Amino acid sequence: MHELALIESVARLAIAEAQQRGAEAITAIHLRVGSLAGVDPDALRFAAQVVLADGLAAKARLEIELVLAQAWCSPCAALFDLEAGLSLCPRCGASSGELRCGRELELAALELLLPDQPEPAGCAAGGAT
Ligand SMILES: [Zn+2]
Repeated sequence: MHELALIESVARLAIAEAQQRGAEAITAIHLRVGSLAGVDPDALRFAAQVVLADGLAAKARLEIELVLAQAWCSPCAALFDLEAGLSLCPRCGASSGELRCGRELELAALELLLPDQPEPAGCAAGGAT
């Protein structure tokens, strides 16, 4: 299950970024996942629960944005959507579309809890040891 390895590398990046910015916690991790990336979003979510179980990202939400694969047809100078394995240009029928997106799996954004931000409502407890 390579989703686990993917999440591990995303988590490393996210935690490095959070540490660099002095964040107390990561509240959300936004991923962009192409429809041809060959990953299962449910498996990604499951892997994230395992990988992010403790540390800075323990409470992070995983937001997955699916990106529909698109290819470029140069005769038509047009982008077209790739639906479920079909790669024919809908205008001219050419099959040699050049894949432009759909294989990405990237960290799109991080939401961090920074020390100088007000605490979220309902988290006022603490102080005494
Ligand atoms: Zn075409």
